[in-house]
Amino acid sequence: MVTVLLLALTVRNALSTGDRRLAEFRSRDRLWSTPNLGLLTVAALLPVSWEIIYVDQTFEGVPERTFTYVFLSPSTAQAPEAYRIADRFRCRGSRVLMGGPHVTVCPDEAASHADVIFVGESEELLPVFLREEVQGRARKIYRACLHPSLELSPVPRYDLAVKYPYKSVPVQLSRGCPHQCRFCLSSKIYGKAVRRKTREQARREIAVILSLWKRPFLFFTDDNFCINSAYTDSILDILKENAVEWYAFTDVSIGNKHRLLDKMATAGCRKLLIGFESLNESNLHRINASGFKEKRLPVYGAAVSAVQSRGIGVVGSFVLGLEDDTSATFDRLYEFILDTCLYGTNITVSTPFPGTEMYREMVERDVLLPDDWSRYDGFTLLYPLKHLTEECFRSKYRELLARINSPERIRRVYRYFHHGYLENDESEEGN
Ligand code: SF4
Repeated sequence: MVTVLLLALTVRNALSTGDRRLAEFRSRDRLWSTPNLGLLTVAALLPVSWEIIYVDQTFEGVPERTFTYVFLSPSTAQAPEAYRIADRFRCRGSRVLMGGPHVTVCPDEAASHADVIFVGESEELLPVFLREEVQGRARKIYRACLHPSLELSPVPRYDLAVKYPYKSVPVQLSRGCPHQCRFCLSSKIYGKAVRRKTREQARREIAVILSLWKRPFLFFTDDNFCINSAYTDSILDILKENAVEWYAFTDVSIGNKHRLLDKMATAGCRKLLIGFESLNESNLHRINASGFKEKRLPVYGAAVSAVQSRGIGVVGSFVLGLEDDTSATFDRLYEFILDTCLYGTNITVSTPFPGTEMYREMVERDVLLPDDWSRYDGFTLLYPLKHLTEECFRSKYRELLARINSPERIRRVYRYFHHGYLENDESEEGN
């Protein structure tokens, strides 16, 4: 019997325990308490006769036995841990297969810890590997030549993850983004063209999820759930029919899509994460020179109010540590969050992930970046800033998080939503 271990690694970051108790991080931990969709998709591409075990390190230890195959799909911050685990499994005789975002951008490094690596998306590469493995001529590296049609993508093996008390269930209906922001790895990996699953695929995936979870809280992991209004509209019909609650990523332009927003509100949308990134025009220009981000800066407040007035919470995503940030940046951001009564925040530290334009430029400029990938967790300042010392940045960052998460601000948000719902009320979501 062929045995397969799909190992989901824990999401860790460098914040202290004190910070992690803040509402911001409790909320984030809930959001990311979700199965590893890449591994569940891999599982669906494997022969049904194989014995497949999905283990999430967040909930249980790594099994200490030998499997025919062990699959790992680390993020950059998880890569060192993934390599240690991979080396152990290989010593015991398991064949280790690795793929995912970090492996796709750093294939040579990953290849020294795996028997086979996949550079690109599994739907294209895995069937080729399986064929060649049976014929005894599997290669070390499988490199994708194109971005596969998502219509080839099977329903992820959600059944493997139902044993864990996850707070949300991920669904990915599209891949790709035309905007190609400088710090974004996702758009680099998935390309500029947006590929989508069909409505029928979406319907099938939601039906499978509903057969496994009583009250699933769906988490659409698409880079931008609302990039094509007609498609989104057609998915909303399915969500409404099934009376599910959900959360998705989108951009500021949602503030102008009033009809779509009305429909989203009645189709179970609870929260939208919007990538505002910065309140500074030149920072926004540097993130995306096409002006895609910066030209929307004047309507940030209006967009929040358009969404939130419909009872949908906006989780504002901001990045600190950008080139033109000064100590005033933190105060200005706090004022914006307070004035707009932003439901939640996702404030990370600008990180030059390998594979991004930002990383390439920094390497070209000889900026000294750490070699230790575990520090690329989105919360650690990795390079010197023009206007702030590292110490000052860290203290302002912590102070900002404390102010945003203060009981007074949380109460203010609570009042804004007229006691509709708050993070603490969501503890039962997903199960
Ligand atoms: S940050 Fe968002 S808009 Fe920019 S490239 Fe990435 S997915 Fe697209």
